[in-house]
Amino acid sequence: MKVLILGSGGREHALAWAVKRSTRVTEVVCAPGNGGIAQGSRCVPVDLKDLDAMVRLAVAEQPNLTIVGPELPLSLGIVDALEERGLRVFGPTKEAARLESSKGFAKQFMKRHQIPTAKYAVCTNAAELEKAVDFFHPPIVVKADGLAAGKGVIICSSRNIALEAAHGLFTGSLLGESAERVVIEEFLEGDELSFLCLSDGVHVAPLVPAQDHKRIGEGDTGPNTGGMGVYSTDAMLDAGMQEWIMHHIAEPTVRGMAEEGTKFKGVLYIGLMMTARGPEVLEYNARFGDPETQAILLRLENDLVDVLEACVDGRLNEVELRWSRGASACVVASSAGYPGSYKTGFPITGLSAAGQVPGVEVFHSGTSRVGSQLVTCGGRVLGVSATGDSLEQALGRAYQAIAEIQFEGIYYRFDIGHRALARK
Ligand code: AMP
Repeated sequence: MKVLILGSGGREHALAWAVKRSTRVTEVVCAPGNGGIAQGSRCVPVDLKDLDAMVRLAVAEQPNLTIVGPELPLSLGIVDALEERGLRVFGPTKEAARLESSKGFAKQFMKRHQIPTAKYAVCTNAAELEKAVDFFHPPIVVKADGLAAGKGVIICSSRNIALEAAHGLFTGSLLGESAERVVIEEFLEGDELSFLCLSDGVHVAPLVPAQDHKRIGEGDTGPNTGGMGVYSTDAMLDAGMQEWIMHHIAEPTVRGMAEEGTKFKGVLYIGLMMTARGPEVLEYNARFGDPETQAILLRLENDLVDVLEACVDGRLNEVELRWSRGASACVVASSAGYPGSYKTGFPITGLSAAGQVPGVEVFHSGTSRVGSQLVTCGGRVLGVSATGDSLEQALGRAYQAIAEIQFEGIYYRFDIGHRALARK
């Protein structure tokens, strides 16, 4: 069977790697892919902002299954468009993807379904905001309503700073594009946890938990990035807590979406804050996380294609997910300057030595091929990922492998997993 993967990052490389392990798959096509994905799969160019171009590509390729990686094609309605043309596709429809593409929708949905989350107000103009802000104690969280690639959240230490931030979002001076709606939220304290589930619209199955590191600097300091590393261990979440999250958050979300006529099929990624009151939802994503997917798929023992097809067909209840015990981790190597401006085009060496470390897979995020040379072409360049019997072993292997890799300006954090290691 032929599988088409839409996207170009480390998440898509991990998906391509897992799909290729399926005995039923004969061909993997990735659009647009990257230099690493192209080593094992056919990559074809496509603009992920151009719905018609993606549809034309899928219609021409006639894959047996399409997997959508990033949020943008989902929010443009790629799933609806491909289903209309009789193609099988894994991911939520445009309406269902609003759980991610509109923070306002997500907050109001959680309120309707009594799903625990921070107190909030959705405002459409400065006057509304000025009234609402007085109901919140600083720090106050201000968020743009739409997709903002992690940049649309501002934590404000005073009422005036919150008003200024909201003004910046409304006028477009902060994100470049003006927000139609701004959400203000109570600030939550605690440890963050990424809880990812699969859903076929009715049934829900949790994936192993993961914890990512969003900040660029050691000790979780500095600006937010797409993610500088992640780890997954069995010990991160005990069975009782997992059951609570399923019962009070994941299942009510999927049930609520179905009741409202917008069944959610795909990956439901729930960003949680483990507060003193219990877990509360920070955000939903409607797709696999990047780099969470790299660490999670390394531990999956099932055939990924069987699992995703069960979601598409509404028979996820027939699948039992099996996971390798122990741990996995992914350390992201980025370009100097990221998440600010950075240069690209630097040759990358040491990948084969890195790949020989036991348990290691190197997933490419921002690489391309110039002739026979692999070069950097993004902020996040590689996700050096490893499994192990313990978190220490997984991290040790990932760091041993990443030390083999060189490109000009390579940067990575040395403290991925530090919170989990400190807890031991
Ligand atoms: P979001 O895109 O909504 O997940 O926000 C990105 C990051 O901002 C989260 O991973 C948190 O670290 C932080 N954040 C968002 N909302 C809150 C909140 N209500 N309280 C504290 N931190 C938050």
